[in-house]
Amino acid sequence: MKVLVINAGSSSLKYQLYDMRDESVLASGRVERIGMDSSIVTHEPADKPEVRDVSEILDHVTAVKKVIDMLTHAEYGAVATMDEIQAVGHRVVHGGEVFNSSTLVTPEVKLEIRRLFDLAPLHNPAHMMGITAVEANMPGVPQAVVFDTAFHQSMPNTSYLYPIPQVLYRRHKVRRYGFHGTSHQYVSQQGAELLGKPLKSLKMVTAHIGNGASCTAILDGKSFDTSMGMTPLEGLMMGTRSGDLDPAIVPFVMNKEELTLNEVNSMLNKHSGMLAISGISSDMREVTEAMEEGDRNAKLAFDMYTYRVRKYIGAYAAAMNGIDVLLFTAGVGENSSALRKAVCDGITFLGIELDEEKNAKRSKEARVISTEASRVKVLVVPTNEELLIARDTYTLVQAQAAGETNV
Ligand code: ADP
Repeated sequence: MKVLVINAGSSSLKYQLYDMRDESVLASGRVERIGMDSSIVTHEPADKPEVRDVSEILDHVTAVKKVIDMLTHAEYGAVATMDEIQAVGHRVVHGGEVFNSSTLVTPEVKLEIRRLFDLAPLHNPAHMMGITAVEANMPGVPQAVVFDTAFHQSMPNTSYLYPIPQVLYRRHKVRRYGFHGTSHQYVSQQGAELLGKPLKSLKMVTAHIGNGASCTAILDGKSFDTSMGMTPLEGLMMGTRSGDLDPAIVPFVMNKEELTLNEVNSMLNKHSGMLAISGISSDMREVTEAMEEGDRNAKLAFDMYTYRVRKYIGAYAAAMNGIDVLLFTAGVGENSSALRKAVCDGITFLGIELDEEKNAKRSKEARVISTEASRVKVLVVPTNEELLIARDTYTLVQAQAAGETNV
C-alpha cells in the first residue's frame, strides 16, 4: 500500500509518499506561499533531482492538485496514476479531549476537528482545508488524522489541570494538552527497541528540542506529564517562545507598554526565547557559533536554554520517582552535542554519565551516548513524525478493510 502523508498549514502544505511494504519514501515536497503571488512547489523524488515550480496557487484544493501532478508526472513522478495511492494521513495539531488516538476521517470526526478551532486557531482550520482538498481531488480515498495531542491524553488530572477556577475547564476546556505527541511516542518506542527492553518497563524522559521544544515523562509506556500546556507556549525556553514565566507578567507588561492582547501574544510566541536573550537568532547553530566566538549574550541564551531543559528532566525524574532513560531528539537534540553535554553534565547526581566520544560523534542513526557504567541510558533517536502518521494511517485503513471483509 502507498500512503500519502500531508501536513497542511495556512499557507503551506508538506507531503511525503510512503511505500508501506518497506516504509521507503518515494517522494516528498512542499507547496509554499499558498494564496500569495508566486507560490512555490519543491518536489523531491527519491533518486531523482529536485524539481521547483513557481505558479499561482490560490487555495489548498489547487495545492493538492499540484501535488498530484507532481506525483504522477511522467518524468519526475513516483506513481503511474493516483489509483496507486490507497490512503492519505494528515497531521492535526489539536485533538482536544476528544481524540486519544489516530482515527479515520468521517463526517463526525470533521465536525469535532471544527469544534476544536478555538483551541488551535492557527492550525486546525488549515488542516481541515487539507482534508477537504484531498476529498475534492481524491474522492473515495480513505483519510486518517493523527493528532499532536493524542499521545498525551493519558496524562493524569494531576498533570493536566491548572490550579485556576474549574469553571474555566468546564466551560472552555482550559487545561494542559501537550504537543509533539507523535514525536514523543515514536522516539520512545524506537528508544526501547534500541535498548531491547519493553517500553512499559522504562521510566523515560524524552526531550524533543527543535525550534519548538518539549520534554515528556513517559511512565508505563504512556505520557505521564509533558512541558507544553494548553498551547505550545508553556514549558521549555524555545527558539522564539518564552516557555514558562510568571503569568502576572502579561497584565503588567500590557499595562506598562500599552500592548494589545495580540501584541503580547506575538511578543511571547515570536520575539522571546533564544532570539530575545541572544539578540542574534532563534537558530541554535547561529547562537552556538556566536557563543564560541565569545559573544556573551549568546552564551547567556545557551546557558538559560540548557538550564531549563535540566530543570524539567529533574522535575520529571521526581514526578516518576526515578529515571532509566533520557532521550534527545529533533533538530537541536539530534545535532547539538554541546547542548546534550551542557544538559547532562549538570545532572550527574541522577546517575547520568555521558560518553564524551560517543556524544561528539555525528550520526543519523539511533544510538546510546552514555557510558557502559551510566545507570541512566542516554540516547539520541532521530524523530520521524511523518513515518508514524503513515504507519497509523496504514494500520487504520487495513483494519477497516479487514472489518469490511468480515462483515
Ligand atoms: P522544528 O521545530 O521547526 O521542526 P527542527 O526540529 O527542525 O525544528 O529544529 C530546528 C533547530 O535545530 C534549529 O534551531 C537549528 O539550529 C537546530 N539545528 C539543526 N542542525 C543543528 C546542528 N548541527 N547543531 C545545532 N543545532 C542544529
